[in-house]
Amino acid sequence: MADCVFCRIVAGELPARVVYSDDEFLAIRDINPVAPTHVLVIPRAHVARVSELAPGDAPMLGRLLEVARRVAESEGLARGYRLVINDGPMGGQTVDHLHLHVLGGRQMTWPPG
Ligand code: 5GP
Ligand code: ZN
Repeated sequence: MADCVFCRIVAGELPARVVYSDDEFLAIRDINPVAPTHVLVIPRAHVARVSELAPGDAPMLGRLLEVARRVAESEGLARGYRLVINDGPMGGQTVDHLHLHVLGGRQMTWPPG
């Protein structure tokens, strides 16, 4: 997807601060962090949003969570953290390439905005 900002980061066409990388995922620091730790875990393959996934994508989602867990561990978030996936306009999604936010380093509150 030539016009997708996360596809362009995955392709190396745009710079990013990479904290984790493997064959399937890239984890980068958010350009506009809302917490001391704000990392985005991004599948390398373009999928627009979680609501477009199929039952067969469940193993990928499990691996996505495992990468998030590893990132949180390496970021030193032993006291806890928040994982967020925004879906679509009502969910507040602004980049239409699936990504999971790892947020930590401050007290999280509920309800979210
Ligand atoms: P969403 O609102 O779709 O759940 O989250 C998109 C996130 O991507 C936002 O937190 C935004 O700051 C971040 N973001 C948007 N463009 C870029 C970029 O070019 N580089 C990085 N590192 N983060 C970006
Ligand atoms: Zn994309």
